[in-house]
Amino acid sequence: MRLAKERAEVVRFAQRLRPEGLVVGTSGNLSVRVGDLVVATPSGLDYDALTPELVCVIDLDGELVEGQLDPTSETPLHLSVYRTTEHTAVVHTHATSAAAVSTLVDELPTIHYLVGLFNGAIRVAPYATYGTPELAASVTDALKGRNGCLMANHGTVTVGSSLAQAFQLNQYLEWLCELWLRASTGGAALGLRPRELPVEEIERVIAKFGNYGQVPPPESGR
Ligand code: 13P
Ligand code: ZN
Repeated sequence: MRLAKERAEVVRFAQRLRPEGLVVGTSGNLSVRVGDLVVATPSGLDYDALTPELVCVIDLDGELVEGQLDPTSETPLHLSVYRTTEHTAVVHTHATSAAAVSTLVDELPTIHYLVGLFNGAIRVAPYATYGTPELAASVTDALKGRNGCLMANHGTVTVGSSLAQAFQLNQYLEWLCELWLRASTGGAALGLRPRELPVEEIERVIAKFGNYGQVPPPESGR
């Protein structure tokens, strides 16, 4: 079996999607790129039934290289990201607040500095039917220069250099959407609108994030 480490990683992250509230049922999918191959979740399979053997390996043309099941129906979207960017991991979810926001606006209002994690304002990709090349093109466009976007009347896509990174960005995206929903609905009752941060401040934060984050020192044994 090829790419055993990546297959195990796909299973590990896929099985966190439902408990963490990022998807319901068999919704959502994720993948990681290794060279010219992509390791992806199968389409429509209960995450509890997913094993490393059932994870799909496809090439950049979407041809199945290894696996017994069809790969995710959003394969065109995943491949479009890999063909057009340097990112090597994609996470697609239907997180509730993000999906709700995707029905309301064309861009998530920048009310919190953590939007800087996404390299700027989070766009909403115009709607297209799931699994289509049109949706793949719409999402690829919305992702330009960004690490994530919403998909109108559908959900989210986050990307990164690892599944851990793309997964965590998905959690942040859901949190940012939940924050805006709460601030805007809570504010509306008081006749208030959430305060937005100016674009210069978001740019300052993006620059600051360049050296944010630490890892434990080696002697800490972690
Ligand atoms: P798959 O089960 O085919 O991955 O599709 C789920 C989904 O979220 C489609 O947008
Ligand atoms: Zn979906």
